[in-house]
Amino acid sequence: MTSSARPHLNRRLAEFGTTIFAEMSALAVATGSINLGQGFPDTDGPQEIREAAVRALREGRGNQYPPGPGIPELRTAIAAHQLRRYGLDCDPDTEVLVTAGATEAIAASLLALVEPGDEVVALEPYYDSYAASIAMAGGTRVPVTLRPHEGSFRLDLDELRAAVTGRTRLLLINTPHNPTGTVLTRAELTAIAELAVERDLLVVTDEVYEHLVFGDAEHVPLASFPGMRERTVTIGSAGKTFSFTGWKVGWVTAVPELVSAVRAVKQFLTYVSAGPFQYAVAEALALPDSYFEEFRRSMLARRDILAKGLTEAGFTVFRPAGTYFITTDIRPLGEKDGFAFCRALPERAGVVAIPNAVFYDDREAGAPFVRFAFCKREEVLREAAERLRAL
Ligand SMILES: *Cc1c(COP(=O)(O)O)cnc(C)c1O
Repeated sequence: MTSSARPHLNRRLAEFGTTIFAEMSALAVATGSINLGQGFPDTDGPQEIREAAVRALREGRGNQYPPGPGIPELRTAIAAHQLRRYGLDCDPDTEVLVTAGATEAIAASLLALVEPGDEVVALEPYYDSYAASIAMAGGTRVPVTLRPHEGSFRLDLDELRAAVTGRTRLLLINTPHNPTGTVLTRAELTAIAELAVERDLLVVTDEVYEHLVFGDAEHVPLASFPGMRERTVTIGSAGKTFSFTGWKVGWVTAVPELVSAVRAVKQFLTYVSAGPFQYAVAEALALPDSYFEEFRRSMLARRDILAKGLTEAGFTVFRPAGTYFITTDIRPLGEKDGFAFCRALPERAGVVAIPNAVFYDDREAGAPFVRFAFCKREEVLREAAERLRAL
């Protein structure tokens, strides 16, 4: 569609035109730049998992509508993963729902749980689909801004508490956090959980980067805190963990009442999806710990290559404790407007990045920050670092 279609878009969604990712990816192609904008890996996931998908296709498994909640093999594998990793016991029949990626899980959860006029408190900067999904549900988003503090972006728990009103329906949490790379600590998660219990709030928690945490950081699911199991919808995805972002296999785990609510919406969004891939993801979730360790190790090495390059180029680098993104501050380069900087960067240095301001309601707060993705081959990151040295 051309931009002439824009005026037809309803008022709830009028502010969500085309995303910056489309503009920046087009710029990358037009200028022959290295695209560190959009967060997808340039290497596919494990060969044996691709073969598992091929086998399923050949053997006629999943080529027709799979069951609405997801194939039993995958639901069982998701439940086993939650138990093995986190000691969270889920019934694969009533407490697991397979979705078309985490994106559908987010949309279906908000459409299911939010009444028009309800307030949804979300961490800012936020993943771009949150704002649109809250709007589709007729909710009002109430951002709580993560602010730079001693080298990372932190949540101000008093601000979070103050953001909750009588109209707040749910908290929308994301840890490890895209785009800042912040991993919420046990202490922060404890405070969030206490607030949710005290104010009787539902929590939707996007944990798609659960396997990408570095160094001392530890991913602890919010659902594992006291009083949270019955009020938390946990969202996961195979896209980020197994480097198959095109397969769009995600999931929700929660108590049966919450899963049925989300399923009621999901059935009218996509009904089902990704039949043969569901079989392959069931096998992926059962990969030995060595897969997850190696994945993390290789992403850590890439983080360090890009962080070093960005530091040497003059950026202030917020070294991420999780995810595959690095947020930088461009002010040491004499710049203050991330939009202008990112629009000029392909010409200046042959690299594409994303202005964090697109993830903020408070554009001013996000203005000096720019995000680079490091889920790319090491030689690509080294070349990007070399190019950025020209700045
Ligand atoms: C990539 C991403 C998603 C979307 O995941 P899909 O499974 O590809 O739909 C959701 N949340 C965050 C924070 C992400 O970075």
